[in-house]
Amino acid sequence: MPILLKNLTADQLQARLAPAGVTPRLARLLQAAVLRRGALPAAAANGFSTRVLNRVRALTAIPVLTLVEQVVSPTDGFARYVFRGDGPELFEAVRIPLLHRPDDPKFVVCVSSQAGCALGCVFCATGRMGFQRNLAAWEIVDQVIRIQAGAPHPVRGVVFMGMGEPLLNYDAVMLAVRILSEPCGLAIAGKAITLSTAGIVPALRRFTAERLACRLVVSLNSADPRQRRALMPVEAAHPTAELLTALREYHAATGRRVTLAWTMLSGINMRAQDARALAELTRGLPVKLDLIAVNDPTGRFRPPPPGELSAFRDALRAHLGAPIARRYSGGQDIQAACGMLTAGRRPAV
Ligand code: SF4
Repeated sequence: MPILLKNLTADQLQARLAPAGVTPRLARLLQAAVLRRGALPAAAANGFSTRVLNRVRALTAIPVLTLVEQVVSPTDGFARYVFRGDGPELFEAVRIPLLHRPDDPKFVVCVSSQAGCALGCVFCATGRMGFQRNLAAWEIVDQVIRIQAGAPHPVRGVVFMGMGEPLLNYDAVMLAVRILSEPCGLAIAGKAITLSTAGIVPALRRFTAERLACRLVVSLNSADPRQRRALMPVEAAHPTAELLTALREYHAATGRRVTLAWTMLSGINMRAQDARALAELTRGLPVKLDLIAVNDPTGRFRPPPPGELSAFRDALRAHLGAPIARRYSGGQDIQAACGMLTAGRRPAV
């Protein structure tokens, strides 16, 4: 089996290729050439002898995703990509434009960590697909490389909010985070990488212990365990009470405020009592709340009309007293918005 480039950090690469004469400096050059230009360095460039380069070439392979489909929204510039990796399963990534600063236009890439998802959140089209497989680290990294290659502005951030639950593919996701943030490679700052989880408690504790620089968002959606269980079956395995304990540990260990995501479902989790329950659940824990309107093409769930949204915000201000942000979920017209990714499969209604 060849050594897969894009699937190792520079240190790991050096350890594997040391017998071929690759020093730490050459490993960093190799990593830079592969991640930034998609090819091994030119012969004899930067201290690589032809002999070493030939040995590296014989021992390694550069895997590349197949781009199956690319669609750009004419309304908001979001772009959706469908990829195939090392298998027949399809998965998606979304290019999110951050163009509000004309002197610093940039993109964030929303990547998938799995093909499909096992967690079955009822408001999510990916969840209705079921689980297909975990992606390898290189399949995550190459989503960013491929999107960067065709982008008019740099990619400055990565969010794990595409298909899949990143903490159920922990090792590959954390390896991908390390590769994406290496200064010799794509150099995406750790704090510009966000993992979004439905709350896999043991993996959350591991994440806390490992102190990675990346940000964490926890998809809560309800502070009432019975209601949460009806929306997110993961509640049965990892109950809200345990999740909150793990989040208090995370805050104690890192000092970071915990970001909670709230998919707004009209008539379901938008009442004053939902705001009060959230305030009660998180008492003493510094949180920040991201509000995201649901995108459900089946029509089963609807986003709140303006009056319901403003009443909920008022209740949150009165009871929670934490920062609240309304997150724009773009690309609805091209099925790229949060909760809509199915890699072209028609979701079951
Ligand atoms: Fe999986 Fe996230 Fe969809 Fe839930 S919302 S089913 S965790 S992809």
